[in-house]
Amino acid sequence: QLDNIFKHASLRAVVSTADRTSLLSAVESADNVSRLSEIDCRSLHGRIILVKDNICTTQLPTTAASGILKNFTSPYDATVVKLLQDAGALIAGKTNMDEFGMGSHNIHSYHGPTTMGRIGVEERSAGGSSGGSAVAVATDQCWTALGTDTGGSVRLPAAYTGTFGFKPSYGLLSRWGVIAYANSLDTVGILGNDVDSIEATFDILNVYDSKDPTSLNLSTRSRLSPRKISSSSLRIGIPLDYNISTLSSTVREAWKHSLQRLQERGHSLHTVRLPATQHALSAYYVLAPAEASSNLARYDGVRYGSRAKGVDGTPESVLYAKTRGEGFGSEVQRRILLGAFSLSAQAIDNYFIQAQQVRRLVQQDFNRVFQTPNVLVDGSTHSENEGVDVLLCPTAPTLAPQLSEVENQDPIQAYMNDVFTVPASLAGLPAISVPVDIAEKDRQPKLKAEDVRENAGMQIIGQYGDDKLVLDVARELT
Ligand code: GLN
Repeated sequence: QLDNIFKHASLRAVVSTADRTSLLSAVESADNVSRLSEIDCRSLHGRIILVKDNICTTQLPTTAASGILKNFTSPYDATVVKLLQDAGALIAGKTNMDEFGMGSHNIHSYHGPTTMGRIGVEERSAGGSSGGSAVAVATDQCWTALGTDTGGSVRLPAAYTGTFGFKPSYGLLSRWGVIAYANSLDTVGILGNDVDSIEATFDILNVYDSKDPTSLNLSTRSRLSPRKISSSSLRIGIPLDYNISTLSSTVREAWKHSLQRLQERGHSLHTVRLPATQHALSAYYVLAPAEASSNLARYDGVRYGSRAKGVDGTPESVLYAKTRGEGFGSEVQRRILLGAFSLSAQAIDNYFIQAQQVRRLVQQDFNRVFQTPNVLVDGSTHSENEGVDVLLCPTAPTLAPQLSEVENQDPIQAYMNDVFTVPASLAGLPAISVPVDIAEKDRQPKLKAEDVRENAGMQIIGQYGDDKLVLDVARELT
């Protein structure tokens, strides 16, 4: 895997790497230890793990793929990084992303886009914003990789690259040392080539952290059911509102096949309605930029961020404007303006407040269809045998689009890719994207060995805290 990091440098999945010689000797000594003690395959000891570049590390720079943080190295490690290191993992490098997590194709990066390679003659989108982590996993540059998922940034790249991408329930994994995009939605997620490696990484990270005020407290953690699939059959929900007209026929076919597969394994299928889904995307694109505009105010060249050249001694307004104008990319500037507008006195009632109400409706939709009550909602009950255990739907409406196509797209088109991932984010629910086969007739002819994987991403969404169940259903699908 270490060799692959250097071999695949042209994909730009990894933007900074630890010193090769020390990594090699760390791997070697880890190998010796494992041979001596026969460490089990779920151990993180000596595993190469890559970390998205918005997660703070003391040994490597943390740029969040932004010009404004191009010279930043954190004085502390994020809690998730520390936990991995304590478990014996080797943090070999940092992965490419869309600037501050804003994007769906990894094209908005100070380091240049990550690409997944080609299908036929065309370069395909790696997905975003954790595109670097997904490509690194797909090309075997690491065992697992950390990403962050605010509205789909782990699941979408997983779907586009044929890998697994897991977004745990909000608040389970510490955000301390993770550069904030939209605090109420940000989660650390995990990408891998199978469910076992993801679960092993998740188990190490799934602990309370007193440094993160939104970390789920111990008493609520103790009320989450540790439920895994037993011999009993599950009730699988098919959300009809996800069967939209822009869903590609290839993905719809793959969805049907996945449902059949679960049925063959003894689970029962049930259609459900989630009517607020149709407004979820618009609500997300009001709420996330609003939080971002406030979070990104700190990068002004005085408190944080690389100051523009030649502005010392100029009035503050000039210093700020030049620094921010030069340091932030165009998509980030667009989000800041959008967010500042929707929070302004003239717009807050029509945009921000409305979007929060939609968010509440989306949460209620999910709570209504799940059999298990949501531990975060007081007095929430559900009559036995009525609800479903998990939902199964596509991760994205299409397979990975061509890079040339998305580079010239207007922003709204890019936002549309998140239509199936944002509802679980708004509700803070666990969700995983699983790569499934597509029909033979939909495959590109003449796919060469070095070409990318051609899968569709299927998403399993569970009730809050049902993370283990979601992982187990993902295993059933593979
Ligand atoms: N594509 C979405 C956005 O741009 C999601 C990003 C994310 O999850 N970080 O906001």
